Amino acid sequence: MTDSTVRTVVDALDTRYPRSWAESWDRVGLVLGEFDHPVTRVLCVVDCVPETVEQAVDLGADLIVAHHPLFLKPVSSIAPDTFKGRIVHRLIRAGVALYTAHTNADVANPGVSDALAARLGLTDLRPLAPAEGAAAGEGRGLGRIGVLPEPLTLAELTRLAAERLPATSAGVRSAGDPDRPIRTVAVCGGAGDSFLPDATRAGVDAYLCADLRHHPVSEHLAAGGPALLDVAHWASERPWLDDVAAWLREVFPVEVVVSDVDTDPWTVHANRDDLEIRP
Ligand SMILES: [Zn+2]
Repeated sequence: MTDSTVRTVVDALDTRYPRSWAESWDRVGLVLGEFDHPVTRVLCVVDCVPETVEQAVDLGADLIVAHHPLFLKPVSSIAPDTFKGRIVHRLIRAGVALYTAHTNADVANPGVSDALAARLGLTDLRPLAPAEGAAAGEGRGLGRIGVLPEPLTLAELTRLAAERLPATSAGVRSAGDPDRPIRTVAVCGGAGDSFLPDATRAGVDAYLCADLRHHPVSEHLAAGGPALLDVAHWASERPWLDDVAAWLREVFPVEVVVSDVDTDPWTVHANRDDLEIRP
């Protein structure tokens, strides 16, 4: 096994998820941390927020591997009275490095959507939107299309997704005929509405992603597109943390913890009655 320092772990992560694979608007790689600092414990998180930072400090983690970038837009200050500046100060003072793999991990094979597809038992996976440019080839791309082990109705698939994905207040909601038979499914970790046309073109029976909205969904269904399942953003990307954690444990003599701190912003959910499906 390789000696584990911030430098060697970052180099290995950069090899598995090359920065050149990230979208041009994205910001990935090492955010902060001393290269020569030894790494004995790693915390994997979807979001680097005060709750997960405190978890890392409590664990004595030397490195956080996060999916979402802490900084996506340029800033002119990291003063400690700003939300993100506070996080930077806390991490540096506690000696915790921060690394981000975002769209470069989405597009990878295996990547974020493979872990999501695996939770649903999908097989024969292929990209929903094959990668172009630096990431092109070898089964890489955004989202995945796969086949269920046995056909389910949309209502049954909705229940399966709720059982197999990490529990959140938002839960899972679906759009379309609850009795519609589903065999082929497209999935995309995170916000997936930009791939609605790809899911329609692929001819899948259902498409599962996060952050769907009223008008795009209504218009997509009216045009005869696949049934849609809308899950919590955090829940759609949390499965990938297990994948990156297992790989880190194989490559480095480090302890890796996966955060189950639910960082989805939706914390309360209520229905007027117990009906799960609105026909
Ligand atoms: Zn995301």
